[in-house]
Amino acid sequence: MTLETRQIIEVGDIDSISLECPTCHTRVMWTIQPERQLLMECPSCRTSICPDGTDVRRSLIAFLQSARALTQALKVERCPVGVRLSLTPTTRPVTPS
Ligand SMILES: [Zn+2]
Repeated sequence: MTLETRQIIEVGDIDSISLECPTCHTRVMWTIQPERQLLMECPSCRTSICPDGTDVRRSLIAFLQSARALTQALKVERCPVGVRLSLTPTTRPVTPS
């Protein structure tokens, strides 16, 4: 038998994206709050967190802006729809006792 665990989070529960420096593995948080400036360099070793002009960087910024916009729209418009993100389920074998 296999047990599947599914994690679901509300869009409003997203507060940041965690990025790991490719050189020293320091983690940098890009917060969803629009007034906070995004760190583009690792504060420990000054490596570019995500090189300028790459699709990854553009996509991360677009994702963050979309999450901000959706969270704000759900608050302002008081939209009754529940918006949740589902993470890839994890499975593990279970031995019957
Ligand atoms: Zn670093």
